[in-house]
Amino acid sequence: MRKIVKRWLYTMPLLIALSAAAIPLLAAGKGIVGLDVAHEGSRERVTLLSHSELSHKALFHLDNPHRLVVDFPKRHYPQLRLPDSYQGALIRGIRFGTYTRDTVRMVVDTHRKVRVLGSYAVAPTDNGGYWRYVLDIEGEEPRDNSAITAAKPKLPAKPMIVIDAGHGGKDPGAIGRNHTREKHVTLRYAKALQKALLKTGRYRVALTRDDDRYLFLKERVAIARENKGDLFISLHADSNQNADAQGFSVYTLSETASDEEAAALAAQENKADIIGGLDLNVEDEDVASILIDLTRRETLNKSSVFADMMIDALHPKITRLSNTHRYAGFRVLKAPDVPSVLVEIGFLSNRKDEKLLNTREYESLVSSSLVKALDHYFANQPRAL
Ligand SMILES: [Zn+2]
Repeated sequence: MRKIVKRWLYTMPLLIALSAAAIPLLAAGKGIVGLDVAHEGSRERVTLLSHSELSHKALFHLDNPHRLVVDFPKRHYPQLRLPDSYQGALIRGIRFGTYTRDTVRMVVDTHRKVRVLGSYAVAPTDNGGYWRYVLDIEGEEPRDNSAITAAKPKLPAKPMIVIDAGHGGKDPGAIGRNHTREKHVTLRYAKALQKALLKTGRYRVALTRDDDRYLFLKERVAIARENKGDLFISLHADSNQNADAQGFSVYTLSETASDEEAAALAAQENKADIIGGLDLNVEDEDVASILIDLTRRETLNKSSVFADMMIDALHPKITRLSNTHRYAGFRVLKAPDVPSVLVEIGFLSNRKDEKLLNTREYESLVSSSLVKALDHYFANQPRAL
């Protein structure tokens, strides 16, 4: 958890530098203590600082005039308002008021209709720090009246989980000491996880492949985006020159690897594209600009949050690799708008792990741990409206 928050804070100076006004107004007392507003491109962010974790009870849009209404559990709140110098194109005012005995209402007045890109809580980085409640919005394109009358309110869809069985076809992936092929292990675990998720009735599931076929890494990312995945889970089984290395690990995207092993592993997994005969090892020109994008940053945050929840949810019988959550530049994790993690279920280069990976018992331990992690994640992650 700590790493995520640090990364988020690390990116904040950039956001502040780009915004015309981002003035935290601090006030004494319990409850909500500060308001921070920032804009970057077409997106704007409202951050509330609070003594304790803050999550909304309701979040909705009202017309005439356009405004977002966010209801929180009753807290003390001082006179917080939008700084006069704020120059964002969307937000024109922020008001707080007591709505009911146990509800504080924040109204964000906007110049036009906006949509919520995301809202989430961020834990303090140190003991003296504050919790943050973050609300990211973007202007919505004006629609004609017929579209508005046709639009019916609908229930939020079940979360879409895109499961990616690593490797496949002419790319076998790692090969175990007893000749187990990674591509077969990943497909088996992908199908087991699909089955377990569908059984709960709470998820929709898409697989990037359901047979032994080769896919470029970019194709896997494209499948995640086409399906509008709420989460992308790429399954792999590791291999290491050190035959003693064993256990479960989870990776999230970072341009800088957390350690040499993670960097080497990313290089190895990224090789899948070279096997395809066409090296797509060319970074997009706009990776740098995507990286400062709010959506991108939130996606990285969510990926990290989920990775940590996954570790917490792991069945005690599953051995963990030290520093279980690692970071590196895996190409398959690069969808800018789909939170993505890469799971290395275990090491095929380790005799014990290879044997375990081939058992039904271990397969169901991994599936049930991942289902538990997903349940926890979606219970704690308010979904964009
Ligand atoms: Zn792999």
